[in-house]
Amino acid sequence: METILQTSGVSVRFGGLTALNDVSFSVGRNEILGIVGPNGAGKSTLFGAICGDVAANAGDIHLNGLSLAGKPSHEIARLGLIRTFQTPRPFASMTFHDNVTIAALTRTNDIHEARARGEAALVRVGLSHCLDRPSSGASTGQRKRLDIARALATEPDVLLLDEPLGGVDPGSVAEVIDLLRQIRSHGMTLLVIEHNLEALTGIADRLIAMTLGQIIADGAPAEVMRDERLVRAYLGD
Ligand code: ADP
Ligand code: MG
Repeated sequence: METILQTSGVSVRFGGLTALNDVSFSVGRNEILGIVGPNGAGKSTLFGAICGDVAANAGDIHLNGLSLAGKPSHEIARLGLIRTFQTPRPFASMTFHDNVTIAALTRTNDIHEARARGEAALVRVGLSHCLDRPSSGASTGQRKRLDIARALATEPDVLLLDEPLGGVDPGSVAEVIDLLRQIRSHGMTLLVIEHNLEALTGIADRLIAMTLGQIIADGAPAEVMRDERLVRAYLGD
């Protein structure tokens, strides 16, 4: 499989805390890679390091063979890699449509084009009925979808989703999973951090498991889920 994203020996320290310790893995084009591990394992920090929000203390990351070292997140977004947040932060005073339009403007300077792409992204995530509503009124699940729409509006090749099912009501989980499948079928590569392991193993081609800033397992979902160290880490042992 052709590698689209590669991290090599990435370490991130926050003061005395090592949040990521020598993390190396690769992602194949059009793959869905699930990332699991207990709270504090470094999963969100890994996304931050990949998308340019968090400076790495060591290592390098390559997208399509191009080093991302030192590049700011807006430049990485223009190269086709974007993340969503565990806790999305839309511009609350703006409408749903304006929120996605701003995201689309990272890839086009044409405001009409940006509005059209923004609307298309909201339609894709099932929020077309919210176009002109202020995003301040969004439920947690709607905020998650809005965040995905904002990412889609930048037309990424690689999409990093931080707990896309977090706070989504149980009745909507299947819809979000379908959405991720549909996104992948359009050629995108997905990295998905998720605590809903049943849903994640249902769509992921591969899993990596993290504890204490390190990758402890990388492979087929069923195998990784059986990894003793992962099971112990989840049990808080
Ligand atoms: P996860 O997403 O797996 O729950 P995080 O990447 O959020 O883990 O956090 C990994 C570790 O780094 C935790 O101990 C967390 O408290 C710490 N951490 C994360 N972000 C920061 C930051 N900006 N400043 C200081 N410590 C941080
Ligand atoms: Mg996290």
